[in-house]
Amino acid sequence: MISIVGAGPVGCYVASLLAKRYDVNVYEQKEAIGKPIQCTGIVTSAIDEVVNVKKTVINTIDTIRIIAPNKKYIDVNFKKPDYVLDREKFDNYFFNKAVDNGVGFEFGARFRDYKNGKILVNRTEIKTNLLVGADGPFSMVAKKNKMYGDRKFMTAMQYRVKSKVEEDLVEIYLGYGCFGWIVPEDRNIARIGVIDYKSPGIYLNKLLRDRKYKILENQSGLVPIYDPKLKTQKERVFLVGDAATQVKASTHGGLVPGLKAAKELGKSFRNYERNWKRKIGRELWLSLMIRKRLDRYDSEKYNGLIGLFNREKVKEVIEERDRDFPSKILFKLLLREPRLLKFI
Ligand SMILES: Cc1cc2nc3c(=O)[nH]c(=O)nc-3n(C[C@H](O)[C@H](O)[C@H](O)COP(=O)(O)OP(=O)(O)OC[C@H]3O[C@@H](n4cnc5c(N)ncnc54)[C@H](O)[C@@H]3O)c2cc1C
Repeated sequence: MISIVGAGPVGCYVASLLAKRYDVNVYEQKEAIGKPIQCTGIVTSAIDEVVNVKKTVINTIDTIRIIAPNKKYIDVNFKKPDYVLDREKFDNYFFNKAVDNGVGFEFGARFRDYKNGKILVNRTEIKTNLLVGADGPFSMVAKKNKMYGDRKFMTAMQYRVKSKVEEDLVEIYLGYGCFGWIVPEDRNIARIGVIDYKSPGIYLNKLLRDRKYKILENQSGLVPIYDPKLKTQKERVFLVGDAATQVKASTHGGLVPGLKAAKELGKSFRNYERNWKRKIGRELWLSLMIRKRLDRYDSEKYNGLIGLFNREKVKEVIEERDRDFPSKILFKLLLREPRLLKFI
């Protein structure tokens, strides 16, 4: 028996894969899948390499406008569009996949401990052969197995609002905490948020200041920062998704990396850590380095960066390349525009 803690998209996906070979049970502390939503739900088309989630896409985005503090901006048009997901439908897609493959689910089931081959869920002990922690940023599975490490978090504060927006354009605001965003669901509804280490609320108010809007939902939450030193595999315990800090620190995107790691866990337990690091380790590390560098930027530096990116030869590279692989983009960018070196 394999026990998986957490019925988020990553937990359900890994459960659906493992259920082809093993008996699998998922324990979820909440009573329902996909609620409350704490996500912007934007992913690159790289998700197509993992699963086909087209039915859960509610908007596609061809252009990202990156706006510097001095209000100058660049529009980057992507050859392959980004997807805006209906996160509730998205989570249910993976849940249904797991149910179809015979996974057992228990809701209102809080994992508390793991000792001597038994997990404690609420007040019941259950025998298990292997334990998978897909239980999000504060992973109790990680804590109870001394795999929590020294993880750090960013706070993403987001409102789903009724407001007039451009339907096929995402706006990214530099200099608002780590960054701010406006992601349209359609021309009347958007997800507007800011991510920062300390005070995203101040920047979010600034972002909303000159806009007419009505708040429909608060969708805020914490995002773990990738920790390359974290142990994600220890004897019979495995961590995946946010529980393993598999999130791109530059964009706080955790869905594609989490699902890619889940795919590796679904293939093999033995070399899981080595295998997922081979697939996404370098990109997660580079994203972390980019975040650390950007954290030192002030308004002037962001203005200078956007100025350089406005040049056609640089824009061309970003538009063509897959943003889930920053290493590929960085190298080409430097060849085209050596002055970018001073920003790196
Ligand atoms: C505001 C915000 C915006 C974001 N926007 C994006 C975005 O646009 N694109 C993107 O790719 N990523 C985004 N992310 C990150 C993304 O939401 C996560 O990376 C993703 O949800 C991780 O999925 P998961 O299945 O690993 O964890 P989760 O979705 O967190 O699921 C973990 C599950 O485990 C359950 N659980 C926890 N503890 C226990 C326990 N002890 N016992 C039983 N069950 C337990 C929880 O209830 C939960 O259902 C955003 C995050 C935030 C906060």
